[in-house]
Amino acid sequence: TTPAGTPRPHDPARPGTPEDPSDVVVVRDLHKSFGDVEVLKGIDLTIRRGEVVCVIGPSGSGKSTLLRCVNLLEEPTRGSVLIEGEDITDPDCDIDEVRSRLGMVFQQFNLFPHLTALQNCVLAQTNVLRRGKAEAEKVAQHNLERVGLGGRGDAHPAQLSGGQQQRVAIARALSMNPDLMLFDEPTSALDPELVGDVLSVMRLLAKEGMTMMVVTHEMAFARDVADRVIFMDGGVIVEEGEPSRVIGAPEHERTRAFLQRVL
Ligand code: ADP
Ligand code: MG
Repeated sequence: TTPAGTPRPHDPARPGTPEDPSDVVVVRDLHKSFGDVEVLKGIDLTIRRGEVVCVIGPSGSGKSTLLRCVNLLEEPTRGSVLIEGEDITDPDCDIDEVRSRLGMVFQQFNLFPHLTALQNCVLAQTNVLRRGKAEAEKVAQHNLERVGLGGRGDAHPAQLSGGQQQRVAIARALSMNPDLMLFDEPTSALDPELVGDVLSVMRLLAKEGMTMMVVTHEMAFARDVADRVIFMDGGVIVEEGEPSRVIGAPEHERTRAFLQRVL
């Protein structure tokens, strides 16, 4: 891990480049069933360091399940998930240690209501990373500034707008110095006028070289920021590639039909 806020070199994936041990995420033949319903039907996916991958697709296509398998919030039925070369489906894997390298931002912000914004950003640093209070507060303050909330550290979540709460959730994730940020529809619960501030923070992270996997319905964001767009439908990746191609000139009828509905 690098110190808070240290930019990583941007290294967008070139399609067709062979797998590398430094790849941040490698998903192989991932299947996930709930009971007898198979929700993921064989996903193969590689995310290289510094890459921004946006996952798009209709509701129920398995996007959240895929993201949740990447940090083992869901256990795959078959296949493997490697994080920085480590197989997290291996029973010997220390999943808590791996998770401490992954930042996760959900649709619902999941902040602790009884803690201030700053305290929300401090908690996991002291509990999981065993940082001292003073250092943790310094890192938290730095990351609140990064998301434009340097002056609101003393506010409780209820005193903040949805967009501000989501930016605190991002600052909280960043305070762990993650190697990968996972976002699951981070702007879907927000009033339209609050979406832009959250997307701006995410654009900034992308520009700084953060490796990001983003499930989103924000097509303009995916088009402008993603190195690669993945279109999922029915538990499979239907097509993937550069945003200009997948969003601008999709090959598959299912992708075209989806884009017609959301654009
Ligand atoms: P998306 O995020 O693309 O909308 P999800 O990954 O949330 O899709 O869900 C894919 C399918 O899996 C849906 O049909 C959903 O109902 C089902 N599903 C998701 N989580 C569970 C669960 N814990 N138990 C049973 N079915 C689930
Ligand atoms: Mg979802």
